[in-house]
Amino acid sequence: MREILIVGGGYAGFYTAWGLEKKLRRGEAHVTVVDPRPYMTYQPFLPEVVAGSVEARHAAVSLRRHLHRTRLIAGSVTEIRNRDRTVTVRPESGPDYQLTYDILVITAGAITRTFPIPGISDQAFGLKHVEEAVAIRDRLLTSFDRAATLP
Ligand SMILES: Cc1cc2nc3c(=O)[nH]c(=O)nc-3n(C[C@H](O)[C@H](O)[C@H](O)COP(=O)(O)OP(=O)(O)OC[C@H]3O[C@@H](n4cnc5c(N)ncnc54)[C@H](O)[C@@H]3O)c2cc1C
Repeated sequence: MREILIVGGGYAGFYTAWGLEKKLRRGEAHVTVVDPRPYMTYQPFLPEVVAGSVEARHAAVSLRRHLHRTRLIAGSVTEIRNRDRTVTVRPESGPDYQLTYDILVITAGAITRTFPIPGISDQAFGLKHVEEAVAIRDRLLTSFDRAATLP
């Protein structure tokens, strides 16, 4: 059976797997998603998480709950060798291993750009992950509390 391997279970990867589950006939192909996170982050909700109008858990869509016919692997792809049609997976724990594919879908997203501004990566928060949105919210609330105690 053909192997369809999706690198990244974010917005594009999640919808690719979801769509394939609906379109593929039984026995037509195996679909696998590799992502270190077990959920898709709905990033447009992150500013609302910062503002407190949406709870953090509502910005995360569980892959396992929605993708019933897809194999989910918790890990990161660290290398792609298209000539051999293999990728190297670094799991959450344990040694790296390889997976083979017939069709590769690369939907690993992007990382927050820090521009050549000294110190920004040490001092600033990004806003791509739920943890970052919660950290910004906590920082804001703490700052308001501190400001309120100023004379
Ligand atoms: C704050 C914010 C607000 C936004 N608001 C809007 C909006 O209002 N409207 C709109 O259209 N768009 C909006 N966007 C943009 C939209 O969220 C992104 O365009 C979309 O999430 C991109 O989808 P993606 O699948 O390419 O990447 P992502 O959703 O970022 O998914 C990438 C996935 O790949 C995984 N990954 C990364 N590296 C590896 C690896 N090596 N191996 C395995 N997995 C890996 C990550 O863990 C992640 O799950 C917003 C984005 C942000 C940050």
